[in-house]
Order: sequence, then structure tokens, then C-alpha cells
Amino acid sequence: MPLRPIVEYPAPVLLSPGELVADFNAELESLVQDMFDTMYDAEGVGLAAPQIGMPLRLFVMDCDGIKLVAANPEILSTEGEQDGEEGCLSVHKVPAPLKRPAKAVLRAQDISGQTFEREATGLAARCFLHETDHCDGRLFIHHLSPLRRDMVVRRFRKLQRR
Ligand SMILES: [Zn+2]
Repeated sequence: MPLRPIVEYPAPVLLSPGELVADFNAELESLVQDMFDTMYDAEGVGLAAPQIGMPLRLFVMDCDGIKLVAANPEILSTEGEQDGEEGCLSVHKVPAPLKRPAKAVLRAQDISGQTFEREATGLAARCFLHETDHCDGRLFIHHLSPLRRDMVVRRFRKLQRR
């Protein structure tokens, strides 16, 4: 299965909301397979379709024991708070501390279009939130203070120039 190039900040596809996934067909299955392959190759724990240039509300993840495909994801509820570092394949994994809810409930459709709900805590909850943000055209750096965001973007640009 072909690996797809990962689109980096500030590509427009990363900064605008994705379109609803409407067709649960073989084409979607092959796209999802490419997304998993690309994510594993990049040693990521989640990957959203806009990150490979596809303007769709779709992500895959394999994080903290939760492996799933989420089409048309929404966060139904969150609870509590967790500290931790977050990074993104589209920002060259430059990490920054970011508070997130400790628990999140995701509703989405699976690869066959079946709606499911899944609850997660810790790193997996962070992943639900990070990847659903991607589907809304939002990156984790948008949750940071302007100062911290500038620091991440500057480090990212240095890595990009290498
Ligand atoms: Zn990301």
C-alpha cells in the first residue's frame, strides 16, 4: 500500500473544516489503509485525512490500546483535565505542553458507516480531541498561547529547513 506524503503547517487543507464522509466504499477502505500505513511509517499515534491532503472528516488512530477508524467524528462530552505534551506530524512532532480534558466521548462512523460511541481517558482521549480538531481545520497549536505557538512554529521551521 502506498505511503502518502504528510502535509505540513500552514497548508490550507489543514486550516479549513473537512467535508462529511458520505460514501463508505472500497475507495474509502483503501484510503484508510494508506492512512494507517502512513501513520505507522511516521511513528504517529493518529492521522487525519487533511494531513495527507484529503479535505475529509476522517481519522485513524492506534493509541494506548485503542485502534479505530473515525468518519464524521464529534466529541459528545469531556470531563476533567490532564497535563501532558502534545505534538503533530504536520508540525514535525515539535512538542508543547497542552492541558486537555482527562476523558472524552467520541461519536463517529466506522469503515462500514456504522455509528459508534467510544470513551477514552489519558493519551487516547487526547488523541480523540487532537484528531477531531484536525477534521474541524484546527491544530493543537491553536490551543496554545500566542507566545508558545510562535515558539513551536519557529522550531518547526528550523526542522523543515534541514
Ligand atoms: Zn496532528
